[in-house]
Amino acid sequence: MSGISISILLAHTQALVRDVVSTLNLRGIEIETGFLKKNSDLAKAYKSHLWDLIILNIDSEDFDYQKAIRSLHRRKVHTRILAVGRLRNRDDINELLKHGVHDFIPVTDPTLLGIKIQQHIEFALVQNRRRELEYELNYKSQFIAKISHEMRTTLNSVILLSEILAENRNQTLNPDEIEYIDLIHGSSNNLLDLLNKILDLSKIQSGKMDIQLEQIDAKDFSSRLSRLYIPVAGEKHIEFKFDNQLNGQVVINTDRIRLEQVLNNLISNAIKFTNKGHVKLGIYKPDAEELLLQKIDSNEPMVAFEVSDTGIGINEEKIHVIFESYVQAEGQSTEKQYGGTGLGLAISKEIAQILGGRLTLESNYGEGSTFTLYLPFDSQKAVENKPEVEVVKVVKSEPGKEQTADKRAKRNSRGTVLLVDNSTIHNMALKEFLSVVVKNCVTAESAQEAYELLEGDEHFDCIILDMYLPDAYGKDVLLNIRAMESRKDVPVIIYSGKTISKTEQKELYQEALAVVQKNVNSYKVLMNHISTILNS
Ligand code: ADP
Repeated sequence: MSGISISILLAHTQALVRDVVSTLNLRGIEIETGFLKKNSDLAKAYKSHLWDLIILNIDSEDFDYQKAIRSLHRRKVHTRILAVGRLRNRDDINELLKHGVHDFIPVTDPTLLGIKIQQHIEFALVQNRRRELEYELNYKSQFIAKISHEMRTTLNSVILLSEILAENRNQTLNPDEIEYIDLIHGSSNNLLDLLNKILDLSKIQSGKMDIQLEQIDAKDFSSRLSRLYIPVAGEKHIEFKFDNQLNGQVVINTDRIRLEQVLNNLISNAIKFTNKGHVKLGIYKPDAEELLLQKIDSNEPMVAFEVSDTGIGINEEKIHVIFESYVQAEGQSTEKQYGGTGLGLAISKEIAQILGGRLTLESNYGEGSTFTLYLPFDSQKAVENKPEVEVVKVVKSEPGKEQTADKRAKRNSRGTVLLVDNSTIHNMALKEFLSVVVKNCVTAESAQEAYELLEGDEHFDCIILDMYLPDAYGKDVLLNIRAMESRKDVPVIIYSGKTISKTEQKELYQEALAVVQKNVNSYKVLMNHISTILNS
């Protein structure tokens, strides 16, 4: 344990305390002691150095210990404070503890004094380590969030630009070139997927995964999801089946996006690892016996989403570790043959737990696998019991708009749109993408630039506004636009790379036409909104 040190501030303590501290036998731990000078302020002394432990003599006539403790608490000092002095009765000790002292030790017993101080030092060491770990974790997740945000913005532009190129609008590309572009597009999408997974894992680790609960009909939801996979399975000449065993309508209160994420992961894995036979999504209500067998200790009614396949299966050894991050069943060879990162199941398992459920696996090597996601009908309690989870209630998206997305080629472009985003490449990509429906896209890279344009005479049919501009916060810009007499009715679409909380979304919706989250598909959602505006 070399290199570990602990610093103790002795505030007017008796000689005995100093002797005890100097003779403490803490192997490998270096003790650094400081002494409070006569009449000096304890809180100020605290500020001058980061102390792990403060031992103060409450019998000292040199200072008012109650005032000293109060001032430490005002400054939110979390250091352990030990009071030493002559024997006190229980009430006096309780009074001390009430004022934030962690322990009282009578100076009359040197052995007890030694043992207690040693215990508190060990406790302070554990606390220090925990604080360090929390800090590291927090720092790491903030770092990952920042980096992935930057990378996502760039990747989205690459994806978008390659999509535009692949359309070969001017018929200037040869088939080889189109294939390269498809490759760029595919790889960028994979990279984006990986990035999202890393971000999810980091959010889970730091307890910052946001959960948006909403009521969904389990059967409708699953059958809709199944329909999406029928053609995907068809491409591999395998069958996709949907099996509803629920009696009547079952409405569950859950996070739709996270549920979709888990099932998408399970189903796409099942299709990936199945070369003949079928993949099936089943839903049913598990009975008490099954829940007991799966070690699910819940009094709540549960629903089970079961994804089974007749694929390659997973061998027994790997079944136990498959939910760990970066694990792939066949090690290197699977990675080469099928790609992937081994992160999806680890994330899925965590999501299941956050929602108060469980993800289980049964598999016979060579015959197939069955993953079952058990979820409570209502995840509210589970989510509330996890104080580290940020709960954001659902904001209804506008149904039906996404499906009509791709009719753009048939439309004639018209109108003028103002794009406000600090990324030049992003503005450029979006401008190009929208060019099919928008005749004129004017770009601004800062709020200032946008204001200058808006103060001019140019007519704008719509404004697309990023939330994080270098010189202003998008919400403030939105309010300023609304305050401009000539622009108060121009539809504004907030376009954000970062997740916006439900409360904020609600506020934004009072002034904005739509709030769209930046991702691969959001370009199409954006295009739909703009088309609606231009055609109205
Ligand atoms: P990824 O698929 O991105 O590598 P996952 O965490 O989703 O990551 O899956 C981890 C590993 O579990 C896969 O690489 C594969 O070896 C194994 N696996 C998952 N689902 C199945 C399945 N249905 N059949 C066989 N193996 C599977």
